[in-house]
Amino acid sequence: MKACVLDSPAPIETAPLIWRDIPRPSPQAGQLLVQVRACGICRTDLHVIEGELPRSKMPIVPGHQVVGVIAEQGSGATRYPIGTRVGIAWLHATDGTCEYCRAGKENLCEHPSFTGYTVDGGFAEYALAEQDFVYPIPDGFADEHAAPLLCAGIIGFRSLRLANLPKNGRLGLYGFGAAAHVAIQVAHYWGCEVYVCTRDERHQKLARELGAVWAGGTIDAPPKLLDSAIVFAPAGEIVPAALKALNKGGTLTLGGIHMSPIPQFDYDLIYGERVMRSVANNTREDGRDFLKIAAEIPIHTEIERFAMQDANRALNALKNDAIRGAAVLAP
Ligand SMILES: [Zn+2]
Ligand SMILES: [Zn+2]
Repeated sequence: MKACVLDSPAPIETAPLIWRDIPRPSPQAGQLLVQVRACGICRTDLHVIEGELPRSKMPIVPGHQVVGVIAEQGSGATRYPIGTRVGIAWLHATDGTCEYCRAGKENLCEHPSFTGYTVDGGFAEYALAEQDFVYPIPDGFADEHAAPLLCAGIIGFRSLRLANLPKNGRLGLYGFGAAAHVAIQVAHYWGCEVYVCTRDERHQKLARELGAVWAGGTIDAPPKLLDSAIVFAPAGEIVPAALKALNKGGTLTLGGIHMSPIPQFDYDLIYGERVMRSVANNTREDGRDFLKIAAEIPIHTEIERFAMQDANRALNALKNDAIRGAAVLAP
């Protein structure tokens, strides 16, 4: 099969992903072989490719927002019939036995595997998945529109859940890429007002089109204090600005897997019982709950399509804020 392979981390400008033939994997016990129809790209892919996360499996096929159909079943992996359309997300598997898994916090598992990071992902014609960790994709979403739901959507949803957003409250979103453009739709569905801070004017425009009551620059002060805010951009200098915009008792949630250092700030910014927390991965329950609400709303994802062999170009565009909504690769 063909796949986009990364042999070792390098800046995306050097086009480190090579579209080449690799052996098609065979599903083992409990696994599925999925024929990929679309795979979203995410900032985490960029962090993996550019070596900003601890080094893991190399060579690796990145990609963790996979929509495809079941082509083969490993032994015992018969829960879904061949041909079922499923999604494969970032959380590839957990040990199921550590203290976090046992406490219902499998997102914090001690021995997890991650799609497109510790095991090969979806920038390929086929990908392996664990039967227990795939999500049936609701009807009504085209393959390319469903792909960004699997990380941008699910992580955005978990970030919203952890943001303690009061009913009809005011939410701030910092950075307006794939995750934020989904989160704003969920926040509106919950009756909230959304304020968007993002450096790129095209992203500010998209935010207004999607109903933001205000959109400004990354560290501009929104016109009203926020009950909750989520930082999706990987820039630590945003944190003090976001705390400044937060009402007393408000929660600031950091949605990314990697962030540049957070500058020192005065205690005043977090005093008043403001809370700051990160989001790490997601549970399968987050995934199932989100896909249900996504179909109910229904969420519309803005996408830009690229051929899979153009993955380097798509990721370059993501790095330069040049994607409107989410970028999706199709084989
Ligand atoms: Zn575990
Ligand atoms: Zn992701």
